[in-house]
Amino acid sequence: MMKQFTLPTTEKTDEIRTTLCREIESYYETYRRKTGTDTQWKSPLIGFADADAPEIRRLRKIISPTHYMPEDILPGATIVVSYFSGYQEEVGKDNIEGDAPSELWAKTYGDTNAMFLELNSHLKEVIEGWGFHAALPEDYGTIGTLGPDRIYSNWSQRHIAYAAGLGTFGINNMLITLNGTCGRFFSLVTDLPVLPDRPAVRENCIYKRSGKCGACIRRCPIGALSAESPFIREKCYTKLRVHEKTLKEKVCGKCTVGVPCTFRAP
Ligand code: SF4
Ligand code: SF4
Repeated sequence: MMKQFTLPTTEKTDEIRTTLCREIESYYETYRRKTGTDTQWKSPLIGFADADAPEIRRLRKIISPTHYMPEDILPGATIVVSYFSGYQEEVGKDNIEGDAPSELWAKTYGDTNAMFLELNSHLKEVIEGWGFHAALPEDYGTIGTLGPDRIYSNWSQRHIAYAAGLGTFGINNMLITLNGTCGRFFSLVTDLPVLPDRPAVRENCIYKRSGKCGACIRRCPIGALSAESPFIREKCYTKLRVHEKTLKEKVCGKCTVGVPCTFRAP
């Protein structure tokens, strides 16, 4: 039976936004109780991207011609809700030493992905209970190839998060949020009648701001990062696949830990 949810008293957009944010914030604890997981997350950062924003419209050009547009996923899409679940600091610190990712890092990555699916399913139920719609592409996490040297995603969570105002890109190709880069992004396409956010104005990467730092470049054990040339995605992906063999997850994250933007926007 469909669970009943109370629609905010009017359809004022800020009330819908606030209510949805509360649903996301409170779900972590619900999920932990339900599954018994010992993984914890920081309070989520949440943004609302305009489905028609130029930062989304250009993704077919800058990522892949097959990148989804919100309306491919949900006809009549208006808003993509994007959220960042930051890892606890002990998880980031655990991944500093060595060239291989730590077991705790890999476990948290897997637990976060599992939590995201349940959280999105809960949000979909909430939104549909209000009389609106929500969806996510089934292959949202798939990595595709365009020729031997071109790896892409059909639904880039980080670029959606950028459009939703959650942060700006660092030299390490991560989105630097107010809570840093140590965590993961997820999203949900909706037809909610809420006002969208705009991309952040402040540049969060020290190097992009002032030409100083570059700590993430030095942290990458295989030289996939550089200040002068674009991130070498294929090199990075090869490393992720190596670690997948032992840790069961495509993880690394060395360039996001032990640097000034790990836990905050510097
Ligand atoms: S470590 Fe420094 S250069 Fe690299 S992304 Fe963070 S702030 Fe930018
Ligand atoms: S994830 Fe690992 S391999 Fe990829 S750029 Fe960062 S440090 Fe390098």
